[in-house]
Parts: sequence; structure tokens; C-alpha cells
Amino acid sequence: MAFYFLIPIDTVSYNFNKFSFMGIVMRLAFLVFLVFSSSSSIARAQSTDARERALLAAVDNNYDHALQLLEQTVDINSGTYNFPGVRLVGERFMQEFAALGFDTTWQPGDEFHRAGHVVATRHRKGPKVLLIGHLDTVFPVDSPFQEFELIDKHFASGPGTTDMKGGNVVMLEALRGLDAVDALDDLSLTVVLTGDEEASGEPLPLARKSLIDAAKWADIAIGFEDGDSNPATAVIARRGSVDWELTVTGKPAHSSQIFQPEVGFGAIYEAARILNAFREQLAGKKLLTVNPGIISGGTTVNYEAGSGGSATGKDNVIAQTLRASGDLRTISPQQLAKVQSEMLSIVADSLPQTAATIRFGEGYPPMSATDGNRKLLSLFDEVSRDLGFGPVQAVDPRNAGAADISFTAAYVDMAIDGVGLMGSGGHTVDEIADLRTLPMNAKRVGVLLLRLIER
Ligand SMILES: [Zn+2]
Repeated sequence: MAFYFLIPIDTVSYNFNKFSFMGIVMRLAFLVFLVFSSSSSIARAQSTDARERALLAAVDNNYDHALQLLEQTVDINSGTYNFPGVRLVGERFMQEFAALGFDTTWQPGDEFHRAGHVVATRHRKGPKVLLIGHLDTVFPVDSPFQEFELIDKHFASGPGTTDMKGGNVVMLEALRGLDAVDALDDLSLTVVLTGDEEASGEPLPLARKSLIDAAKWADIAIGFEDGDSNPATAVIARRGSVDWELTVTGKPAHSSQIFQPEVGFGAIYEAARILNAFREQLAGKKLLTVNPGIISGGTTVNYEAGSGGSATGKDNVIAQTLRASGDLRTISPQQLAKVQSEMLSIVADSLPQTAATIRFGEGYPPMSATDGNRKLLSLFDEVSRDLGFGPVQAVDPRNAGAADISFTAAYVDMAIDGVGLMGSGGHTVDEIADLRTLPMNAKRVGVLLLRLIER
């Protein structure tokens, strides 16, 4: 234990030293995790049967190969827009799934302007499970961050180590563990590894068709994102996110005439009214956020929703046009529908001589904490305790961004995410994986699936 206590705490502080508060929180979480891991290791022998123990041993035995696969795939640049790179990573993973008896296909992404996805199926009997990963990273070909580097026995850096080539490897290692105990034929499995998770293709319904089709078939969905990178948590609820775009027009006139009934208030006052009403009516509602991100207004506007724009005008001229855009995050489809209708009626209540419209994008659907998701989490928690890895709680949805699993939420009975390779610094050149979570999560998912067969 002394070894465990001294080495990782130092290394963890190295990861978080720039964020001292988070550093402390993470170190405390890690300590709690280690205490649980050691105190319940005695329980392990009693609560896992021979088959589970054989699965655990198989995961351990395959660790070197797993690490090698992680290194190989991280070393291939697969920034979302590097289509050949995304494809190459896809092919590498397809080999691994084929070796486990999966039928693998590459689904080209031409229709939605991205590289494409891997879909691998192994449909036999038993529970129908969808396993979700992604091939792309946020690091383009010209990023300075390109290579896997082993820092020490426990930590490695590299683009996409935790987000989420490592998650794909965790998925494979869990399956290899199941294969080692001849359990794969008692499951019906579909794997979808999307090639555009970090910047999804458009139109979105086409970009997510493979995933949604698989979800319609499946009963259970498991996502291998890194979650909030704490082995003591998993994700069972994510807020959905949709973009909105506001267009406002007013009557142009000399500024001296503003407030007159025949001239009205102009586009900028009208936008201010709308945005302030959003704030007054919607701020503070549970798990709801509405954020205006960009705005430009004046006599003319050159505007691209979501990325920026410019405006021209004069201080003594009433603004004729205005564009603004932002996002809206909600926890359930019901909340989304309700808030959208409130926003529409605020927008419609125009000041004199102005008009406004709001358009909502497609976005990511919400994933609510259903009873099914809670049930799956409680099974995962039980597995984790039995294996000596400590309890697992749900991540606060406020801290979980939208992800691919959200698209499956409407179709499956049970879903859980955030069981991949964990670490810190995701989406930055400081991305570092805690390699100890690779076998840990492969074991936890492997045994979870084994118990789902036997349930
Ligand atoms: Zn990811």
C-alpha cells in the first residue's frame, strides 16, 4: 500500500498542479478510491466465482498487448478532419474485433462529410448490448501533440489516450476477457466506433444513423468515454445540447426618432428584451442552461452562426438587424420542449416596429437518469465493490457534456457511460492516461457483462 500511496499521489499532483483546487479534490477522491480498493480486496475472493476470476486473470495476462494496441492507435493521427487517419485507426480496431469473431464493416461518411464509422457485430443469443466508442480526436494533423509517451509504469501521455482510443481498448480487453471464459456466444453484441464524435458530421441524423439503428436493436448501451475520469463515478445522465439562432429586425431611422410609435425601438433593444427575458424566466431552473454566445447588430451584419461575425452601423442610426446564437442544455426531452416553447413565446412578444425569429438546431438529445440506467449503475457498482475497486456513483449531469451515448437514450432500456480509460487533461496537449484504469475498467465491464448473461 505504501507504494500505492506515495507514487501516484505525486504523479496525480503533477497532472493537476495548474488547478490547485481540482488537484486537491482529485487527490482526495483518489485516496478514498485507494482505501476502498484495499479494504474490500478481502471480499473479492468471496463474491467472485471461478469464471469471473478466470476473466480477471485473462485481462491481466493481456495487459502488454493492450498497451501496445493503445500506443499503436494513439500514434496514428486521427483528428476528426484527417479522414485517412480516422480510417486507419478504424481499420486497426476492425482487425481486433474480427479476431474475436465479429463481422466488421466500414461505413463511409461521405453523406455527412466525415471519415465514417466502424460497425462490428457479433449477434448470438442473450442480452443485446451496444458498445460505443469513437475513433477521432480533437488534435489535427498539424497539432504539436502526436505521440504516445509512457511517463512511468502508471501514466502515459498522448492525443486520444483517454478520449478515447483507451476507451476502445478497454472495450476490447473486456471482450477478450469474456472470450477467454467462452462467454462471448452468450451475448449479442454491436460495436459502433464513430469517426466524428468530437465534431459531428452534418446533417446530424445521417451522421448518427448507424448509432441510432444499433440502439433501436439493442437493450443495453455502454459508452467507453472517460466520463469525469474518476473510477468512483460513471455517467447515467447527460444533458442534451441544441444550438439556437436569433434573428431580429427593426425599422432604420435617425436615432432622434427612437421611441416614437411609428419608428419603434430598433433591433438592438428588441434583442436585449429577448435575452433579458430568457435570463429572467429561465435562469435557476434545475439542470437548464441557456447561453447566448455570440451577438452582432447594427445597420448591416455579416454573420455566421456559432462562429462569429461583424456589424456596421452608426451611433445616430437605429439598428436595423441583429443576429445572435447560443446553446440550450436540458436534462429531458420534456424539459427541452417546454423551454423551447417558452423561448418562442418570449421571441414573439415583439416591441413596436420590430420582429424576431428563433431557430433551433438538431443538437444532441438529453439522456435522462431512467430507472433502467440506475439499475445498470447499481449492477456496475456491485461488480466494482466485489472486485475490490470500491463503490461507483452517478456523475452530476451538470458536469457531463453531451456524447454519442445520448443518441441511444431514447431506444435502450439501460445505459451507462464513462467506463473507459481515465486520466486528465482531455482535449489539451496535457492529456494523460492513468493506465491502472485500463485493466480495472476492462475487468469491471467484463464481469458486468458476464453477470448480465447470468441474470
Ligand atoms: Zn470522446
